[in-house]
Amino acid sequence: MERINILVKRLNLTTTENIVLHSVKNFSKHHLSEYLTRPVTTDNIRKIYQEFGDIGIFGSTITSDYTAGLTNKMYGLIAKEIEAVDSGFRSMLSVQSSLVMKPIHQYGGDRLFEKYVPDLSIGKTIGCFGLTEPDSGSDASAMKTNARLDGNHYILNGSKTWITSSPLADVFIIWAKEDGKVSGFVLDRSMEGISTPEIKNKMSLKSSITGMIHLTDVKVPKENKLDVSGMRGPLSCLNNARFGISFGVLGAAEYCIQQTIDYGLNRNLFGSLLAEKQLFQSKLANMTTEYNLGLSAALTVADNMDDGVFIPEMISLIKRNNCSKSLNIAREARDMLGGNGITEEYNIFRHMVNLETVNTYEGTHDIHSLILGNYVTERKAF
Ligand SMILES: Cc1cc2nc3c(=O)[nH]c(=O)nc-3n(C[C@H](O)[C@H](O)[C@H](O)COP(=O)(O)OP(=O)(O)OC[C@H]3O[C@@H](n4cnc5c(N)ncnc54)[C@H](O)[C@@H]3O)c2cc1C
Repeated sequence: MERINILVKRLNLTTTENIVLHSVKNFSKHHLSEYLTRPVTTDNIRKIYQEFGDIGIFGSTITSDYTAGLTNKMYGLIAKEIEAVDSGFRSMLSVQSSLVMKPIHQYGGDRLFEKYVPDLSIGKTIGCFGLTEPDSGSDASAMKTNARLDGNHYILNGSKTWITSSPLADVFIIWAKEDGKVSGFVLDRSMEGISTPEIKNKMSLKSSITGMIHLTDVKVPKENKLDVSGMRGPLSCLNNARFGISFGVLGAAEYCIQQTIDYGLNRNLFGSLLAEKQLFQSKLANMTTEYNLGLSAALTVADNMDDGVFIPEMISLIKRNNCSKSLNIAREARDMLGGNGITEEYNIFRHMVNLETVNTYEGTHDIHSLILGNYVTERKAF
């Protein structure tokens, strides 16, 4: 990997940060990757959550008795190591950290924090984030799920779909309309009226379980409402998750580039190594350039976030760019391995189909184009 990282030779990490990153790298490479050979069962997924908890990477940017209080840069670099193994595993990390623990920390107050975060931080409980609905994905503010105040409770009704880990979740962050305005609620499995059927036969992100959430007259205590109003609530959580994704996809891309180099150095065609052919090297030059530019951009955004100087459009820029460039890298790598590119053995095809999803979720490529277009023209084209 040394030779792939051309622009970024120093990450400027402290000794402790280096130790943390090194241990996550080891864990990912030698331990997490073992799960790829095991069946995707709820038991195995629960074990992965517990192991993420054991190494202390859930909610890592939150400073508390239960979480590490790392920088955004470290969060990104950790996501990159996990996604080098599989985007599904990184999705679990992102959702639990940015989309469940983060909103509880930011908008839940001490009571909800103490009630839910200790167990989420050690992976004893699993959280999910319900924003997308069958009739509103990109256009999330058109959601139909609704909340009605009834005495000391809210009554929630509606359906969410494409929700990472919903079939096994213990804690649910649900976005619903209350008098036409979007509000957030923390639900848990003990509340009656929640069902979470699995979406079966996905061709991508097969290592993670995805499902729906049906809410029928679910009674949620008034104090489980988050203290944020409007789309600012879900969007602020998504900013954080999208930032992690921008780093994560580069882990998958880096893996694909390295596999392709190794393959080219061992494959003889027309009397010489594939790695010695000009076309092959030209493709590698393009792939490595895009990877390095993407990583440099992500690190720039990370530094800005850690310095408290950032605008959401920065995140749209790196989410959009790094997802599509990583997807293209994986597609190119798939081709460069010939027939072997489609086998399980080389893992490129799996990364490629995973990246198709990562390019779509948390704001599609098009949606981030529209956000950036709006920013530069000051004209909305949604
Ligand atoms: C595996 C997986 C896990 C997911 N996990 C979660 C989760 O945990 N929580 C959650 O809430 N959601 C989750 N999602 C949902 C995801 O965020 C949505 O799929 C995504 O936002 C896109 O919504 P959609 O699928 O409804 O597509 P649509 O919004 O219907 O988009 C369809 C196409 O139209 C394009 N489009 C949209 N608007 C415009 C426009 N104005 N102009 C031109 N083109 C446009 C889009 O770019 C896309 O190409 C997940 C999705 C997947 C696949």
